[in-house]
Amino acid sequence: MGENIRSCPACGNDNRAAAASPYSREHWRIKTCSACQFVYLENAASYDELVSEFAWTKTKVEERERKIGKEPTLLKAERKLRRLRRRAFGYNDKALIFLKAFVPQGEFLDIGCGIGGNIERAAPDLRGSGIELDANAAAEAQKIAQSVGGQVIHADALSGLRQLPDRSFDAVMMRAFLEHETQPRDVLEQTCRVLRPGGYTVIQVPNFGCLNRRVRGSRWCGFRFPDHVNYFVPDSLRGMVTGAGLRIAQFRLRDHLPTSDRMWMVAQRPA
Ligand SMILES: [Zn+2]
Repeated sequence: MGENIRSCPACGNDNRAAAASPYSREHWRIKTCSACQFVYLENAASYDELVSEFAWTKTKVEERERKIGKEPTLLKAERKLRRLRRRAFGYNDKALIFLKAFVPQGEFLDIGCGIGGNIERAAPDLRGSGIELDANAAAEAQKIAQSVGGQVIHADALSGLRQLPDRSFDAVMMRAFLEHETQPRDVLEQTCRVLRPGGYTVIQVPNFGCLNRRVRGSRWCGFRFPDHVNYFVPDSLRGMVTGAGLRIAQFRLRDHLPTSDRMWMVAQRPA
């Protein structure tokens, strides 16, 4: 299997000589950058391998089974309660709420659009297009995008973005995406390029700095091998986004509370 050895995606430092973090698993090496403390998977799988051998849906199921097997009864009960609550009150999808609040109408691009759920839910006010790595998902999403006047590109994020013209979207959605991307800074720079000046990007990623990760350690839901390759904390997310030429439009404490496993940011291409 071909290995893709990465330098720190945040600062570019080569950490090959540094010891692997205890969160590493099997032959997957998690590194904490010795220069900037960013946490990332050093030997990421290539896009092709992710698609074939490590299909996200499959690893998701395997991880879930592994965690449940290890979980004490109390945590199982908690999980059940959370599921019941979600069923009763509906899924609180902050990323979509922020997208609609900042960009009530226009054209948006969903990076890592899956089968097109966001495109469907954002219609009809927002006309959605997408980029998706998985061929089957991209074909499904394309049906939905077509019905609202958008299009879905079947590609990895970076080559997909490079096919799109400058200043062509009012919004770009990255929900549960950046943690998967081996070149997150390049993707953010391309995002800035395809946004119209004043346009917004909504980002949702797991928060590696959350309490749950500290308590659960390697059982934390944010660990997924090998498809989660970047482990952001609020400061590193802020740094990478602004480093790509975007400005932070919304990143309040309640958008990155340590009590939540995830965090949400809205960033803007300067007008
Ligand atoms: Zn670094």
